[in-house]
Amino acid sequence: MRAFAYQRATSVAEAVATGLASATSFVAGGTTLLDLVKLDVMRPEQVIDVNRLPLARVEILPDGGLRVGALVRNSDLAWHSAVQERYPVLSAALLSGASPQLRNMATTGGNLMQRTRCPYFRDNHSACNKREPGSGCAALEGCNRSHAILGGSDACIATHPSDMCVALAVLDATVELEGPGSRRSVPFAAFHLLPGRTPEREHALEPGELITAVTLPPAPSGARQQYVKLRDRESFEFALASAAVLLTREGDRIGEARVAFGGVATKPWRSAAAEQVLRGAPATLETFRAASAAALREAQPRRHNAFKLSLARQALERALSDAVS
Ligand code: SF4
Repeated sequence: MRAFAYQRATSVAEAVATGLASATSFVAGGTTLLDLVKLDVMRPEQVIDVNRLPLARVEILPDGGLRVGALVRNSDLAWHSAVQERYPVLSAALLSGASPQLRNMATTGGNLMQRTRCPYFRDNHSACNKREPGSGCAALEGCNRSHAILGGSDACIATHPSDMCVALAVLDATVELEGPGSRRSVPFAAFHLLPGRTPEREHALEPGELITAVTLPPAPSGARQQYVKLRDRESFEFALASAAVLLTREGDRIGEARVAFGGVATKPWRSAAAEQVLRGAPATLETFRAASAAALREAQPRRHNAFKLSLARQALERALSDAVS
């Protein structure tokens, strides 16, 4: 492991001012960064510890929404009473991820910043455009069983690994950022970037910017929420396909419909095509099948991951069925 300078920030202003220096990384739970530093995949020259910043509160907002500080641990968020009552899809997604020990360390901000689990990315001897721009992508012709069928490019087909982010996508979250002398909010859908020709650029953060909170608007009245995750083993495993849904009912028909996938796309994947099929349609298995077919119509499976087409459809149809049952 390479040596790096370590500094503990005492205020957000100090963290973002220090974070402007090149090759600087913020660390909170460290569950991604420290792994990748040990593998020599990430090589920060300076690491700023943000654990002592006052960003670990969950606040209920006057409009009924929730503001989650960037340092709120995944376990604390999953078991928070307001999350369990108002945003069960978020609680379920969090509790399906990693292990209890990791959830006790991992933070809200860090979860958004998770790096891909593509094995070639984590292996310095393989070609990887994300790790080393311009070097190629070993996954395109290699073993791509775990890779994306949605949102990929000729430069990268790595999946986004987070469960929490799939739930945040259907909850219409907003990410609050603070940079040197500025604050701004980014809609969740715009926070993670598609790989395109620049897979090394994964999010909308500018140099020095720090995630300070994630804000959730109130869930629609009577909304039913569900998260279904399909994986190789039942715990401590990433999704091969997952689906988060939020539905309202108007009699026998569906009112509002929000759908997102995990495990099959290069970013948390909100499916406008599935939502269009669902809105106003009868809440039947036939409708759910039509929605899952629409969601996967643009999918581009590779040599080893065509099975994800059927897995993603099953995840969505089960989530929708469970939500209305
Ligand atoms: Fe690297 Fe992306 Fe290719 Fe994996 S899929 S090897 S992360 S460029």
